[in-house]
Amino acid sequence: MKKIQMVDLNGQYQDIKEQVNNSLANILETSAFINGSDVKAFQKELEDYLGVKHVIPCGNGTDALQIAMMGLGLKPGDEVITADFTFAATVEVIALLQLTPVLVDVEPDTFNIDVAAIERAITKKTKAIVPVHLFGQCANMDAILELAEKHNLFVIEDNAQAIGATHTFKNGEKQKAGTMGHVGSTSFFPSKNLGCYGDGGAIFTNDDELAHTLRGIVNHGMYVRYHHDVVGVNSRLDTIQAAVLRAKLPKLNTYCAARRDAARKYNNAFQGETAIVTPKTVNGCSGICETCDCHVFHQYTLKITNGKRDALVAHLAEKGIPCGVYYPIPLHRQKAYLDDRYKEEDFPVTNQLVKEVISLPMHTELDDEQINFITSTVIDFVNG
Ligand SMILES: *Cc1c(COP(=O)(O)O)cnc(C)c1O
Repeated sequence: MKKIQMVDLNGQYQDIKEQVNNSLANILETSAFINGSDVKAFQKELEDYLGVKHVIPCGNGTDALQIAMMGLGLKPGDEVITADFTFAATVEVIALLQLTPVLVDVEPDTFNIDVAAIERAITKKTKAIVPVHLFGQCANMDAILELAEKHNLFVIEDNAQAIGATHTFKNGEKQKAGTMGHVGSTSFFPSKNLGCYGDGGAIFTNDDELAHTLRGIVNHGMYVRYHHDVVGVNSRLDTIQAAVLRAKLPKLNTYCAARRDAARKYNNAFQGETAIVTPKTVNGCSGICETCDCHVFHQYTLKITNGKRDALVAHLAEKGIPCGVYYPIPLHRQKAYLDDRYKEEDFPVTNQLVKEVISLPMHTELDDEQINFITSTVIDFVNG
């Protein structure tokens, strides 16, 4: 059996090697490292793929979130509501801009932000909601957009984990993750579903004026060379990274399908196991059918409900099976984000999830032998 990896980037590289190597050689020869033609071309190709008017490439997914918030003109003291159960980058940029992060609980089955909890947290100071499409599945965007409209709030989608996922609205309309709110962000970190070979990120919006503002902010607040109209940052997608992403974007749907295929096999193997809860897909479908793209499984995350999660992590390590606990500590209990307004009873779901979740190896190169070994090892241990 091939050695099992949490993420396998080499398999994809072997498949696109010639194109990537040729593009990179060309960039090295022409020295067009910054704002080379691949950056513009990738921007256009991603706009077409997502069906969004504007893609603004930038340096990484954390910058993308920060720049999105800067572009919306949020001011110190404005409250921004986001999920307690996410990667720290989401809340970090809120705090960095001296906005006030307001963390709320998530749903027990999808791990995504709980709309009722958002509603309870809204005050006169609330200016924005940041739903995170966690592990590859969209948050409840019907309800979030409705709530935002009612209270006149911005919606900033943190789409670092769900690029390529499609949300089906109640009226049957479909839209790509990251393009439904006022602005969306993503990350091209190597292990993300569309990963480059270093850091990279992008911001999405359908708003022409906001797009213009954002394009200036990523470039030192310049709209005309050496005229700095607003405070900006330096955050660019390297030409080399754009070239890698151009080779991968046409394959993104195939990559997503391979992940779903692995998820389907995992789900089938764990069926009927009472202490193992498989990830639930909402959005009106099982999420693992052949054609569906409502879940792109950035992570395949189980809940182990009989108290054996930590022991399972240790056991899998012994068996040579990598795994992850995303996330082991709720953000509201992280030193940097403590706030008197939080009470432990506000976060029953997150407090439970941090004890139960475990993410299994998930990438496009998993084979049946590996999946069978992983699932039988997990089942034997959890029932043992
Ligand atoms: C990875 C990630 C980010 C940050 O992306 P970087 O490119 O690493 O800066 C932000 N939010 C979420 C939910 C992520 O998973």
